[in-house]
Amino acid sequence: MTPQVVTVLLAFGANLGDRGETIIEAQRELAMTPGVTHLRPSSLRESIALTPSGPDPDAPRYLNGVALADTTLTPHELLDVLQRLEARHGRVRDARWGDRTLDIDIITYGGKLISDERLIVPHPRAHERDFVLAPWLELDPHAVLIGHGRVAELLARLGDTTRPITQTRQAVDHAEA
Ligand code: ATP
Ligand code: MG
Ligand code: MG
Repeated sequence: MTPQVVTVLLAFGANLGDRGETIIEAQRELAMTPGVTHLRPSSLRESIALTPSGPDPDAPRYLNGVALADTTLTPHELLDVLQRLEARHGRVRDARWGDRTLDIDIITYGGKLISDERLIVPHPRAHERDFVLAPWLELDPHAVLIGHGRVAELLARLGDTTRPITQTRQAVDHAEA
């Protein structure tokens, strides 16, 4: 039986190390992962660090971006791949929303709703994050977030505090697995 191909939206964030290099390298590795094809990355944008007590202008700033991709991996297989990539790029988990070299979250997995001890999809905080909504809108002006409506409207309501960065390199080679 041919495995089902599902389109997913992934969010990338980094505020330690060579942030852009890390995200681009992780996207390249993801594009070469068996079961992942047609990775379409957004541009990267800069945002103020979000901590449990709110935005922290003194913390190192984040680079954020999203990517659409097609996958035959199950949601949990995809999460395993993403967590291995985070670990390979030096991610250490200590404080909640602490500084990190790389975070990759699953924002949507097709139209599927998932809620278990490892995975909640759509990502429960995506609707309130301009650093997810703004690059998503760039990739898909008609995007809709299940349970919350049109991404353009969500972002307009929230306001976009992210800043575009000047990109010196193409984000990814569009390598096909
Ligand atoms: P946030 O989820 O608010 O963006 P975070 O990305 O910093 O916070 P992490 O430390 O990266 O959180 O992940 C904590 C746990 O969240 C992971 O171990 C993973 O099992 C779980 N998780 C639940 N839903 C998702 C999802 N949609 N994408 C990625 N991880 C998820
Ligand atoms: Mg996250
Ligand atoms: Mg995460």
